[in-house]
Amino acid sequence: MMKGQVLEPATGGVLAEVPWATAADVDDAVRRAALAQREWSRADPAHRAEVMIAIAEAVRAEAEELARLEARNVGMPIADARGAMAGVASTFRYYSATPERLLGSTIPVSGGLDMTFHEPFGVVGLITPWNYPLSIATWKVAPALAAGNGVVLKPSELTPLTALELQRIVVEAGLPEGLFNVVVGPGDPVGQMLVDHPDIRKVGFTGSTAVGRTIARQAGDRLKRVTLELGGKSAALVFADADLQAAAAGLAGGVFGNSGQDCCARSRVFVERPAMEEFLAYVKETTAAMRVGDPLDENTQMGPLISQRQRERVASYVSQAPVLFEGSAPDGPGFWYPPTVLHPVDDDHPAARDEIFGPVVCVLPFDSEDEAVRRANDTSYGLAGSIWSHDGARALRIARAMEAGALAVNSYSSVRVNTPFGGFKDSGLGRELGPDAPLAYTELKNVFVKT
Ligand code: NAD
Repeated sequence: MMKGQVLEPATGGVLAEVPWATAADVDDAVRRAALAQREWSRADPAHRAEVMIAIAEAVRAEAEELARLEARNVGMPIADARGAMAGVASTFRYYSATPERLLGSTIPVSGGLDMTFHEPFGVVGLITPWNYPLSIATWKVAPALAAGNGVVLKPSELTPLTALELQRIVVEAGLPEGLFNVVVGPGDPVGQMLVDHPDIRKVGFTGSTAVGRTIARQAGDRLKRVTLELGGKSAALVFADADLQAAAAGLAGGVFGNSGQDCCARSRVFVERPAMEEFLAYVKETTAAMRVGDPLDENTQMGPLISQRQRERVASYVSQAPVLFEGSAPDGPGFWYPPTVLHPVDDDHPAARDEIFGPVVCVLPFDSEDEAVRRANDTSYGLAGSIWSHDGARALRIARAMEAGALAVNSYSSVRVNTPFGGFKDSGLGRELGPDAPLAYTELKNVFVKT
């Protein structure tokens, strides 16, 4: 059996060794999930709701340990990891309503009665990335289970530890043994095995656009259902009438949060030209004040990057670009990178076009609203975006014109459990979270009864 080393990005040391799943393990997981799913999908909806609530409570009870594990494995500041675990518990709680509220409809027809049902797929395969490991897994696991499915989850091989804990927690909370399985290992072959498996009828994927394309292509051959949450290169539009200080201070979370390893990072900030000088002065303050260091320190705002490879990738983009200023980062072992501001930089510079997935922001001037919207939309991605202005009508007009799925006015917020989340264009296919997420884990069935 092969084992993978799981590293601690703040030190570069080994945090754990985890066995990698073989094809037989994946088969076994699918078989166990299918067996348990038959019972689960027929269980009293009230019971399924209670189990979802019990999982939420169990996650809450272990939230501190889970947060520390996530913080060490991802390099995420402990305060953020605590917020993430609270979100995980809320997601299970939110979807506890699903088993009793997955309502079909009755449709007036002639000659009989007609009704619809939202049927679970059976077993679904979920594949998730390393940046918010348990949060992103839960956005899929909770609605999939609540809708009556069995689940096989393949977390990123870099960050599998909290998912493995969740596998234990859900059984202790009363979920049938075998209904939720975690298989660990690299995308190729372990993720591939899920995509290829004939008894997995739906794949929920979050990760890079490149891998999402591969999965969509392979799923297409089998007409397997997919939901894809992919990369981004999101824009913030900052108008001269905005609270410039708030827009700049918010970048601490809006682009440097999780060391920029956030699919919704506003990594292109367009600023109305008359406000540029003042805005940059505030951004300089924000960048210089960022507390970069030990993820377990309560005061840390930004930890390291996930890996040496990621650090080299970020450094290579920055080495070709004009750095206006950068913050500090610890020396020594660990995959550290300072918060970095690029300016002036052309829209078609690789640093302004590609998803860097690091604490790097491009600041670009604009002269008119139309120009700003056109340039913000001039990207293959379409995940998130922000509009900073005190002119409410303008902000709404631009929000409607921006080609992105998750927009915020005077805020960098992107994700809430009770609102839909997902991307336009190359940023994805389908939506997660919000009231309709369970529908993505069901097939719609129509039944006609002759009377
Ligand atoms: P990645 O695409 O390399 O990997 C994601 C997952 O897919 C991992 O579990 C990986 O093992 C697996 N995988 C890799 N190759 C595979 C294959 N051929 N078949 C099946 N599975 C495969 O992404 P990453 O580097 O882990 O995460 C970073 C990317 O994720 C960024 O592009 C980021 O924007 C994106 N992301 C998107 C969202 C969103 O909700 N839109 C959220 C977080 C991250």
